[in-house]
Amino acid sequence: MSDRAQASNNEEIKVVLAQPRGFCAGVERAIDIVERALEKYGAPVYVRHEIVHNKFVVDTLRERGAIFVEEIDEIPTGAVTVFSAHGVAKKVENGALVRELDVIDATCPLVTKVHKEGRRYAEKGYDIVLIGHIGHPEVEGTLGQIPGTVHVISEPEDVAGLSVADDERVAFVTQTTLSVNDTKDVIAALKKRFPSIIGPDTRDICYATQNRQTAVIAMAKQVDLLLVVGAHNSSNSNRLREIGENFGIPSYLIEDASMFDPAWLQGVKTVGLTAGASAPETLVQETIARVRNYRTVTVETLDGVQENIHFKLPKELSDVERPKDAMEAWAVTTA
Ligand code: SF4
Repeated sequence: MSDRAQASNNEEIKVVLAQPRGFCAGVERAIDIVERALEKYGAPVYVRHEIVHNKFVVDTLRERGAIFVEEIDEIPTGAVTVFSAHGVAKKVENGALVRELDVIDATCPLVTKVHKEGRRYAEKGYDIVLIGHIGHPEVEGTLGQIPGTVHVISEPEDVAGLSVADDERVAFVTQTTLSVNDTKDVIAALKKRFPSIIGPDTRDICYATQNRQTAVIAMAKQVDLLLVVGAHNSSNSNRLREIGENFGIPSYLIEDASMFDPAWLQGVKTVGLTAGASAPETLVQETIARVRNYRTVTVETLDGVQENIHFKLPKELSDVERPKDAMEAWAVTTA
């Protein structure tokens, strides 16, 4: 029996859309930067690391002439190069200088803010605790932007193992895409061990991450299945799925509609659907269309924060028109 035959019937199902979901201002800006760079300089434009963690976005930009690389030494001398929204370490900036790359920085301004904060603490001689996930490119970038001693931790249990020069001079910063609740627990453990510790509380967790988490928490009480559209290496998307799990709801992270398994609909009356900050709305709408293959769907969007944040483009691109056909790729077709 096919998947479709297994799950298909005319039973009604409600799809509840989280508000807000999907693209944040930092991701919009990063994509816009690559598109305008291609318009201004022509292909190829090199991009260090995935511009944002989303295969659809990366594939779309690759088709237009972007070349994605992991290391600076893969880029020809002098080439136009974009740094991804996650930010880069100083040594990457220096490597780009040596290769005389024409760099356009798409680091999200909210990540740059954390770099600056960390540098300010370092200048004052503090040991810095960076709360985040080792190996995530944003954490690698932030680590490499702060001179001095930086300790990366992710769990309250990690606090006991910290060895600092002076218990009275400890500061913390955080990755921008963490779980607000989990981060509160880590900060509480830090404050217990280092009562004089200073830091931004959870304010380094960006507005987009916080808003998407709040929306899923509000939605969780009324759904029996949670689908998060986002990449497996997207930190904020993983945190959204975990929220569903913490509420005891079967919760799945899907890169796109093809990963949706109709067997998940067994016994389900209401599906919650959201998307990480790097996932375009078109993937959300394709997921709804896929669910329609198996059920009669009604769609409802929850009330939530209407985001109206835009970040300025780098000045070298501010006078370049965003190509119209490029914008069409992100246009939403309602399912
Ligand atoms: S998730 Fe937050 S920090 Fe990351 S790009 Fe978006 S706005 Fe910037």
